[in-house]
Amino acid sequence: MDKDFNFKKRYGQNFLKDDNILNNIVNTIDITENDLVIEIGPGAGALTNKLLNKTKKIICFEIDKQLEIYLNKFEETGVKVIYGDFLDQDVKSYLNFSYDNLYIIANLPYYITTPIINKIIVDKIPVNKCLFMVQKEVADRLSASKSTKDYNSLTVFMNYYFEIKKLFNVSRNVFYPKPNVDSAVILLAKREKPLVNVKNEEKFFKLIKDSFKYKRKTLKNNLKSYDLEKIEEILNKYNMNLSARAEAISIEIFADISNNL
Ligand code: SAM
Repeated sequence: MDKDFNFKKRYGQNFLKDDNILNNIVNTIDITENDLVIEIGPGAGALTNKLLNKTKKIICFEIDKQLEIYLNKFEETGVKVIYGDFLDQDVKSYLNFSYDNLYIIANLPYYITTPIINKIIVDKIPVNKCLFMVQKEVADRLSASKSTKDYNSLTVFMNYYFEIKKLFNVSRNVFYPKPNVDSAVILLAKREKPLVNVKNEEKFFKLIKDSFKYKRKTLKNNLKSYDLEKIEEILNKYNMNLSARAEAISIEIFADISNNL
């Protein structure tokens, strides 16, 4: 990578320069030659290069056209590079050929992690596993367990669809330019079916969002506009009551409440 390249902070351009970490990332998933990999934000192609040892079926989405000078060389190997914001893409329109598994791999700028995960869920991109390098704090939040400070509405929302595992931390020293934060690699494995049975997903997600609205407040305060008597009755089954905070509520209990409101 040319050190004179005009690195753009607004796109989170901190490129990985450590060969061991790159190998660790691509070896985390058992990718074979008939698998398709979508890489979001290939940058100068460090990860793309490693992925090419596993499969030639790779589609990259890169927002910065100036990186073309580094990514052009991949076109001859069959890698498809699309320039534009991943969030604006009709990803499914690129998937009309045969492949075994679909993996999405990305070293993501922190501000875009949640919108990207949301897009994958909302657009119903038929992914098997996502492997993301994200800011360490984001990884802790996404992989948090119930009753810990990091457990929040996003944790519950994601757990519904994915099994989430934090794999390893990555020091800020292995990036160029060096960012202000450390990173971590997380694996999201799509569940065959959602974790709990939910009659109305929209209602379920709204209940979760409202329950966590003010983290320090009790359910009684956050859910004022709901049928509190009914919610209390359900909570009592689990030896809980309305003075509990959302962080103490498991996804199963949220489902039970939402299914019975
Ligand atoms: N994969 C490379 C690596 O590991 O060295 C680069 C990672 S860098 C942290 C993030 C990359 O995502 C940059 O190349 C940036 O231009 C790109 N990017 C940022 N926002 C994007 C978006 N919305 N859509 C597509 N690419 C994006």
